[in-house]
Amino acid sequence: MNFGEIIRTEILSRPVKDEHCKRAFLAGMLRGSGTLYEKDGELGLDFKVRDEETLNLLSAYFSQLYGYDIREVSVSEDRLNKKDRFVVSMCGGGVSDILKDLGILKEDKNGYSVNFGLDGDATERDCCFRAFIRGLFVATGGCTVPNTGEENGTGYHLELVFFHSASASITAERLAAAGIRAKITRRRESYLLYIKSAEVIKDFIAFLPAPVSVLKFTDIMINRELTNNSNRQKNCDLGNVSRQVEAVAKYAEAIDKIERLKGLGTLKKELAETAAARKAYPEDTLSELAERLNITKSCLNHRLRKIAQISEEI
Ligand SMILES: [Zn+2]
Repeated sequence: MNFGEIIRTEILSRPVKDEHCKRAFLAGMLRGSGTLYEKDGELGLDFKVRDEETLNLLSAYFSQLYGYDIREVSVSEDRLNKKDRFVVSMCGGGVSDILKDLGILKEDKNGYSVNFGLDGDATERDCCFRAFIRGLFVATGGCTVPNTGEENGTGYHLELVFFHSASASITAERLAAAGIRAKITRRRESYLLYIKSAEVIKDFIAFLPAPVSVLKFTDIMINRELTNNSNRQKNCDLGNVSRQVEAVAKYAEAIDKIERLKGLGTLKKELAETAAARKAYPEDTLSELAERLNITKSCLNHRLRKIAQISEEI
């Protein structure tokens, strides 16, 4: 089940209010899906957008914050999801200033360089770091949860994708400082920051924050837990029943063998009594049989084991 769409939809449905958080949100989006290039001595940036809703939101933020109008958008079909994807190109006038302001570029005496860290003030405040992670998630995030009732399906998984290992590890450090532990792995040309623990994924969604998604996610966790428990209970019950059936069969065979080869009369009085009762009441549970013989269940068990032993020694 693709839970990532649920989280994305909630993020997009809650507009970012403060200007500082809007910058952080943009920084997160571009960090996750942007590619920098240079053309005719000018800096350009391409980035991918998953849907029109996100594109509109970004256009609004760029225009509100920087008075920059996105003009160049190319559409490509995402065959896997049968959806359009958009690639936004920003080039020339003002782009480098915007990227510097977003903390994606830094400038020193040697000129501009890419800042893979999160040391720019775009993500300094707690509210802004959360907005940054939301932007990242909208751009590159994914989350899957196991389908209820599925025995061997995929487990819980949440991921954010980065182009550079440095960005991935610095983001992981900041998240760890907020109590959310994620791991990093390489997938082809990208670096994945991922979480497998359902509890930690829940914490991550709460951190964004995406409260409605947290509720839905908790629901899935509880349902899954219930299903697992009831499966375990069923297996356990079946196990008990089959063990009991085996035991009954084993003792019935032992009694038959003694009767055939030696006669039940050769047994000690209490064992002969027990063997006769077992034969006479094959449907009785151990407790019922013990009651019938007016002995305890453990005494009955002891006698039956003794009978089995004698039959083996014949
Ligand atoms: Zn903020």
